[in-house]
Amino acid sequence: MNFFDLKSIRWRIALPQLGLFLLILLGLLLYLSGFLRGIYLDTLKSRLEAECRLLATETLQMEQSSPSPEAIGQYAHSTGVSLGLRFTIIAIDGKVLADSEVDPTTMENHLTRPEVQQALSQGSGSSARKSATTGINTLYVAVPVRSGTQTTGIVRLAVPLADVDAVVARLQTTLSIALGIAALLSLVLSFLAIRSTTQPLEDLTDAARQVSAGNLHVTLLPTGGDEAGQLTDAFNTMTEQLRSQLDALRGEREKLSAVLSRMSDGVAILDDQGRVTMLNPAAERIFGQRETQVLGHSAAEVFRHHQLFDLWRECFESGKPNAVTIEIGLERTFLQAVATPLGKSLPGSTLLLFQDLTRLRRLETVRSDFIANISHELRTPLASLQALSETLQEGALEDPSAGRRFLDQMQKEIDTINQIIRELLELSTIESGKVPLTVQPVQPASLWAGSLMRMQLQAERNGLQLANLCPENLPPVSADAPRIEQVMINLLHNAIKFTPRGGTITVSAEVRAVEVVFSIQDTGMGIPAEDLPRIFERFYKADRSRSGGGTGLGLAIARHIVETHGGRIWAESTEGKGSTFFFTLPVST
Ligand code: ADP
Repeated sequence: MNFFDLKSIRWRIALPQLGLFLLILLGLLLYLSGFLRGIYLDTLKSRLEAECRLLATETLQMEQSSPSPEAIGQYAHSTGVSLGLRFTIIAIDGKVLADSEVDPTTMENHLTRPEVQQALSQGSGSSARKSATTGINTLYVAVPVRSGTQTTGIVRLAVPLADVDAVVARLQTTLSIALGIAALLSLVLSFLAIRSTTQPLEDLTDAARQVSAGNLHVTLLPTGGDEAGQLTDAFNTMTEQLRSQLDALRGEREKLSAVLSRMSDGVAILDDQGRVTMLNPAAERIFGQRETQVLGHSAAEVFRHHQLFDLWRECFESGKPNAVTIEIGLERTFLQAVATPLGKSLPGSTLLLFQDLTRLRRLETVRSDFIANISHELRTPLASLQALSETLQEGALEDPSAGRRFLDQMQKEIDTINQIIRELLELSTIESGKVPLTVQPVQPASLWAGSLMRMQLQAERNGLQLANLCPENLPPVSADAPRIEQVMINLLHNAIKFTPRGGTITVSAEVRAVEVVFSIQDTGMGIPAEDLPRIFERFYKADRSRSGGGTGLGLAIARHIVETHGGRIWAESTEGKGSTFFFTLPVST
């Protein structure tokens, strides 16, 4: 705060005090200077009176020797000079006999002078006035010259009042200086006292400003038990409580935002006008929007789906929860949206919860496909078994060669059913995780070599060439060797099955960061792009007419084995040119 701010408490207390003080000083000065002048005049008068009485005696003695007027004049002059005063000797009739400064013959009769009158009637007299003779303000003191009871004349001493005034003025100046110093000292003292009162207030103002600017860590030092000290204590308690309340609030908010930001479900809050006031990261992802850019925008504009806007409106108007399921975006995300009024906690606001059910729906599809597929896979061999056994019953049994052929056929169908069941069992065992993996460090090259050896004959029979480009010096991987070989055999089996004669199948492996990527490339028919994401599903066959006697389980088994090892499996393919399958295994540490 500005020191010279006259509105401050400091000056509001100091100014009246100063005014009062100056008034008292002025009064005191006026009174004292009058009083002093009076005392000085009285003292001067009594001194002059005493001198006069001495001079009266001297004058009487001198008169008794009948001096000449010159001698009297001489006496008056020398006396006046030695006293430094004007000395006048007046005859009883008022005639001036001698004067130390003026020629007596030029002076008028002095009988009517007040001091002369007073001296004759009262024994002494004084008067302060302008001198008719010299023309200056003068103090006169006169006493009669007495011889026994007879008054023979009057002697008078006079001093210019200017001299008196000079002495009084000197006294006044000294007094003023002393009083001025006293005033200054008292002002300084009162400022110090005011300062000790206002300083805590200024500190408090500063601290309050800091608190309002967000700094809650200000603490004022205790100033004592007076009112300012109590105020400081109260302020400290208040900021401490504010701090702890804010900390608690911040903690709650952080918890809430941690929950909201880590939730996999989208959450949005709309106000009573249907404008977005909050959007969590999951909702940002679902709708491809950023919260900071859409706050305050209408839900219709942000979600771009009229059903969601209708959902909000119905919920807002009825005050009841409501839900819809919709498909949004090019990726056809399947969403369930639930609107709930927030009621008293946030009046007028509505909470929208978005659950992405796409995966759940896909799983549902896979499950129903699985059942349909398994029934279909089993129905085909079973139907042909039934047809064969009916044919046998209807008489083919009697024809030994046809009977044998039919039995062979039946055996093949039973083998197919057996294979399906065996693979299904295997898949469910791997999926259930009941058979633990026995993982050991294994050389990638030896894994390929073992698998290739087992498929060599089959490849040759199909007129295909197998090439092993796997480097020998790769780091070992953590693998359950027999299971990984099964993955490789499944992949090799497919490559052989889907590659026409004369083709080549190339296997390899390479290190990428902390894993080894295995690959198997064929020059076969390839896989249509739309089938590529689904070939690892159970029973999925890209092209049923071409897939031969497969069960559609081979890749599903391979995927499970690889994933239980902590790896990934995927395929790249160009239809008509060939496919490459990849899978990864962690490098053994
Ligand atoms: P299947 O027993 O039918 O081979 P898989 O699960 O092993 O079952 O394969 C699923 C489908 O993926 C196959 O039916 C086929 O359409 C496709 N496929 C797998 N490997 C290849 C490949 N190397 N070339 C072309 N298509 C393939």
